[in-house]
Order: sequence, then structure tokens, then C-alpha cells
Amino acid sequence: MADIKGQAEANLYSLQRIFTIPESSGATLAQIDAEISTNLDGFLSERIVASEKDLTEIESAFSSPHIPDQPFYVSGYTDFILNHLVAQSVHTAAPGFIGHMTSALPYFMLPLSKIVTALNQNLVKVETSKAFTPLERQVLGMLHGLIYNADDVFYEQWMHNSNHALGAFCSGGTVANITALWAARNHLLGEQAVARQGLYGAMAEKGIKGMAILVSKRGHYSLAKAADLLGIGRDNLIAIDTDDNYRVKVDEMRIKAEELQQQGIAILGIVGLGGATETGSVDDLQALSALSKDIGCHFHVDAAWGGATLFSNKHRNRLKGIELADSVTIDAHKQFYVPMGAGMVLFKDPEQLSSIEHHAEYIIREGSKDLGSHTLEGSRPGMALLVHAGLNIIGRKGYELLIDQGMDKIHYFAGMIKWHKDFELVVEPELNILGYRYAPEWVQAGLAQASAEVAEKVNVCLDRMTQLIQKTQRSDGKTFVSRTRVDAPNYYHQVITVFRVVLANPLTSQKVLGSVLDEQQELAKHKDIQDILAEIKQHLG
Ligand SMILES: *Cc1c(COP(=O)(O)O)cnc(C)c1O
Repeated sequence: MADIKGQAEANLYSLQRIFTIPESSGATLAQIDAEISTNLDGFLSERIVASEKDLTEIESAFSSPHIPDQPFYVSGYTDFILNHLVAQSVHTAAPGFIGHMTSALPYFMLPLSKIVTALNQNLVKVETSKAFTPLERQVLGMLHGLIYNADDVFYEQWMHNSNHALGAFCSGGTVANITALWAARNHLLGEQAVARQGLYGAMAEKGIKGMAILVSKRGHYSLAKAADLLGIGRDNLIAIDTDDNYRVKVDEMRIKAEELQQQGIAILGIVGLGGATETGSVDDLQALSALSKDIGCHFHVDAAWGGATLFSNKHRNRLKGIELADSVTIDAHKQFYVPMGAGMVLFKDPEQLSSIEHHAEYIIREGSKDLGSHTLEGSRPGMALLVHAGLNIIGRKGYELLIDQGMDKIHYFAGMIKWHKDFELVVEPELNILGYRYAPEWVQAGLAQASAEVAEKVNVCLDRMTQLIQKTQRSDGKTFVSRTRVDAPNYYHQVITVFRVVLANPLTSQKVLGSVLDEQQELAKHKDIQDILAEIKQHLG
């Protein structure tokens, strides 16, 4: 079989060949497949982040808005993609890429992911997924067990129950959070009243003036999307202040909730963070659960990042109280090392998801085992296979090791930053995330004595410096950390810029961590940085 192109004069016969697996001489196709594999192997074995090519330059390869009239050869197209797309992608698997939540993937994910594409199952209904539906239901059961640890009788009763689902498998933490709050909203407003009559009708019927969701000010932005979509309004996603460890102040949340209730505002739910995205901090989930009971509202835990910590006997204690939540979000495409597109929300009580149940005549019929009746999304791929693969091939013990070594590494790195006189640890690690900045010893000493006014001036300078170092480090491409802004309890709660580090990639060694600091120290010798330091010297007098 020759390299296929849908001929311009395409008769249906030649187009059909594109959809057929070649019988005999698949040589060209095998060649293309081999070329892609070699190229990907090359890309993935790159140990550095790789220098940043100007985005406008990359854009020039993707500038035409015209759909080609004339078809391309697959081989020619593949060459184009390898050169302009693959080669210009970000090395998220590089050991020195420690700024974001994407990491290297276990090698088996790549061949197994072929199955998802090849079979093209649609998990919305059993008719298009068959065995994938029980598999996904099992994955939801396993995750439910990881969080709630119910007994075997429970899972026997609910896991494959045609009227219920233990949770919803979705594209990620965002949709998981939306689903949790959607269920909570419908539950609050009386089963399906809101689904039929809309917000206005349902609220009028209940005599509710407004609704609010309470969460730490460190809550993920997906919660704001949820508040917007569900008609709660972003202004009614109430951000509560955090303490010196970036954990939500539960007392303040209680006062705020009572205040709102007195105004006739119904509390739809409170959200606890099982690992804040920027600081890794974990709220006091036990206290939040108690508060939700007093208020009588839904308690959701966003453990998109931190949920996998439950695998570790040593560290799972950090999430204590998570089992008290009505619903929990966990992203498999974060610390379960599954490719992007795998999130889940689990519900303690399988009846809870019924409040968002939808049916149709031709699919997701009542009483069917179709998963689509309990998900926001319609058509969905069989990503659950890859979560299933991780859970079986890596196993509890394997995930425990991965979590434990990430925690060991973050403490090692925190120690290194503290020991280093030119760096300042700002966000102590609670999970495997920390925040720090470059601040020479004399700056730190000066700041410790400074008035609020002077500290603010110095911190503004340090912010510029942190930003400059981070940007240069990124474009130099040897290592990468991200940056964020946090409130600094040591400095009159001024909001300062810090380097943010997430240690989840098992390939990141202590040596790599050392080189991140070395590189930053080297960058600090640059004239622009030295100028800022001179300015700081003036402020400190
Ligand atoms: C990543 C994350 C999300 C959002 O998940 P996506 O998969 O990006 O949609 C929500 N909450 C927290 C705490 C997260 O870390």
C-alpha cells in the first residue's frame, strides 16, 4: 500500500482506503509509525527544558485560515508536524521542569493509549462501550474506596448498580468540581426542581433570596467557573482568608456563613482544599466537615492535586477528614501519572448524583447502566482504561513510593533553600509544592528589621527580580520553575511573588534541584538584577 492521500479527484474508493487497515504492504505506514516513534523517543529523552522559540515564529507555521483544497500525503504531513509541532512543544517530562503539575508518564501509557483511539469507545452509553463501562465503574469504585473505604458489601451493591453511579469520570478537575457543585445545587433546591423550572422558579418556590459557596481564597479558579455556570454568580463564591500556613480560617468561614444565612442567603456548600494548587496547603477538613454539618450544607473537597497522597501510609494523615466529605475531586492526570483528560468526582452517598440525572429516549435510558446519565459531558473517551492501567501496573505500593519520594525530595529541596544564604523559603511544603525567592542574606536581614512601608518597597523590587529571573530561566531552557503571588505572613501580609515548585516527576534528582538554584544564582549576576539590588540597598538605607 502506498502512502495515502485522499486524491483531489477523490473517488469514494480511494477515500475509503484511509479508513481501512492495510492488509498486505503496510510498509509506508509502518515507516511513518516508526518515524513518529523515533522522533517522540528523541523528544522525550531530552533532559532539558529546551530553549524557548519565539511564539510568533512558531505561529507562522500555523498562520493560514484556509482549509487545504488539495490533500497532503500522510508522510509529508507527518514531517511537517514533527518539525513544527513536536519539536516546538514543551518538555513537560524533563527532570528540570519542576514548575507545573505535568510530569513524565510511565512508558506503558503510550502503547495502551493506542487502544483508546483504536477502539474509539464512547462511554456515554453501554451500546457504544460495552466492557469499558464496567471498567470505568470499577475505577470509580476503586477511587471511592481510596477515599471512603466502605466495605465490600457496599461496593457490591453500588458499583455496577444500573440506577446509580459512585461518581463521574470526566475530562479533569474543572468538570469534576462543576459536577460536584451542580449536584449540591440541585440537591439544595429540591431534587430536579431547578433542572426543570430553572433557578428563578426553584428559588422562588423555596423562598431563597440568593446562594453562596464558601471557600479559601486559595481555591482553584475552576470554582469561580462553577459559580458562574450554575447561576450562583462569582460574587457569591465567598473567598475566606487564610492563616499563616495558607489554610482557610474556619472560624471566619463560620462567621461569614452565619451572616449570610441571616440575610436569607442559602449556603450551597463549602469547599475544602486537599492541596491548594499554588501552595499545596491542606485545609482543616475535619473542622470544615463539622461546620458543614452545623450549617446543613454540602461539603466538597477539591483534592484534584493532593488526592493521590492517600496512597501513602506515611502522609495520608495530611488529608484526614477527607472521608467526611460529601464529594471529592481527584485528577488522575496529575499524581496518578495518566495522560491529560482524566478527572473524577466521587460521592460518598451514591444517591447524591441522582440530582443531576438526565435521560433520553435513544440512549441513557432509565434503568440502563449508561454512565452518561450522571455526567456533564456527553460523548467521552475510554480514558478510564489508563487509570485502570496505572492502578494495576503501579499499584497501591507503587503509588505510595512515588508519593513518598516526592515528599522526601521536597523536604530536601526546602532544606537546601533554607541552608542557602541567598534564597528565602516563603511557602513551606505541606504536600510536594513549595514557594521561595532569591533574596541575598543582607536583603533578608534588612527586611527582618524593616517597617511595613520599607518592606513594601523592598518587596516590590524583589517581585520584579523574581519575575525577571523566572522569565530568563524559562527562555534559557535548562530548567523551569513557575511563579505565583502569595501573602507573606512575615512581611505584614504583603503579597509577594515567589518561584513555585511542584515535585512530582520521579526523574527529578537532587542534583537537578541543585542545578536549579545554581542557575538562578548565576542569573542574579546579570546587570538588570544587580540594578534592582542597588535600589533595594537604598530603600534599606
Ligand atoms: C488542577 C486543579 C484543578 C483543575 O483541574 P483541571 O484538570 O486542570 O481541570 C482544580 N483544583 C485543583 C486544586 C487543582 O490543582
